[in-house]
Parts: sequence; structure tokens; C-alpha cells
Amino acid sequence: MTLPFESGVRVTSPFGLRADPFTGASSVHSGIDLVPLLDADRTVRAAVSGSVTQSRMVTDPMNRTSEWGNYVSLFGDDGRMYYYCHLASRAVAQGDRVEAGQPVGVEGQTGRATGVHLHFEVRENGVPVDPSSLIGVANVPGAEKAPPRWYDEAAAWAVEEGILRGTGDGLQLDEPCTRGMMVVFLHRLWKKLRPS
Ligand SMILES: [Zn+2]
Repeated sequence: MTLPFESGVRVTSPFGLRADPFTGASSVHSGIDLVPLLDADRTVRAAVSGSVTQSRMVTDPMNRTSEWGNYVSLFGDDGRMYYYCHLASRAVAQGDRVEAGQPVGVEGQTGRATGVHLHFEVRENGVPVDPSSLIGVANVPGAEKAPPRWYDEAAAWAVEEGILRGTGDGLQLDEPCTRGMMVVFLHRLWKKLRPS
């Protein structure tokens, strides 16, 4: 699953029971509130590939969806529903096909929100589920998840291919490693270092 912010995420309000930010009363938070690790990184990205079911701004206060303000909902290829709420602007339209990582909008404070953040909600069969485990962040205020580093991804791939063995910092070259495998590995690293 792709993080909703490219720079990584910080939890500002966890999923589940919490004190309502407006009234202080105990209430259930049906999503998780996230901000980007880098302030300037406000582009919200699709966590999974899927199709856009709604992209709109609800202003009618009688409609509970108005709490979400400007929002995009996505039916993921994994069968889950994804909601991106309080957006400043939307980058997709109803019916659009989106790929994981594609921008769906810009983080904002529309609807019922006390500050600029993303309300990220995931539902299975209509029931909100804890999104924190899906994106690999702890469900506590202040928890952070950094994006995967390209060299970690390259190393993981090399371990999978049998070019390197070990884990984490203990990686070492496996012997024998064919010239072809090493060339592919170096080519991948080269493309990352010199993308054009
Ligand atoms: Zn929220």
C-alpha cells in the first residue's frame, strides 16, 4: 500500500475512541488523521489502485457527509472503500481510474476540521476499519511512518533474487552471483541515481 503522502505520514488523531475535537465528548473516530512528514508535501495520493466513486464538496449541513468537506472516495482493487477528506482541492473526477500513488487532491481543512490534515478512512463491507495497520503506522498520536527508501527497496529485491543475503545492515554478497544478476542490480541502482 502506498502512503497517502509521498514524504511519509504523522498521525495527529488515531482511529477509534477519542475525545471529539470540537465538543470534548467521547466519540468514535471512523478514520485516522494524518499530516505529511514534510510540510510542503501536501499532495494526497491514492493508497491503492481503483476507481473514483465520489469527488465532491458537500455543503448541506443536514448531510453527514458535509463533515468531510471536499472529499474523494475510491473503490480499491482490493475491495475496500477509501475516503480522502477535508481536501483543499480535488484532482480526480467520479469514474476516473487511478493508480496507487496517483494524486487525488491537496490536503486542506474543508468540512468539520480543526486544522489542515487528511482524514483517511477505510471501509470493508461498509464498516470502518483501522487504517493504521494497512499503512504500517502505529495508531497513536505522533506516530510516524517514513516512505520506503529506494536503496532499501533495491536491497530487498537483491535479497529476493539471491544476489545479496542477510537482512538490514548485515547484507553481504552471495557467492556465486552471476554477472547477469549483478549487471541487472547495478543497472537498477544506476537508474535510481540517474533517472534521465
Ligand atoms: Zn478524522
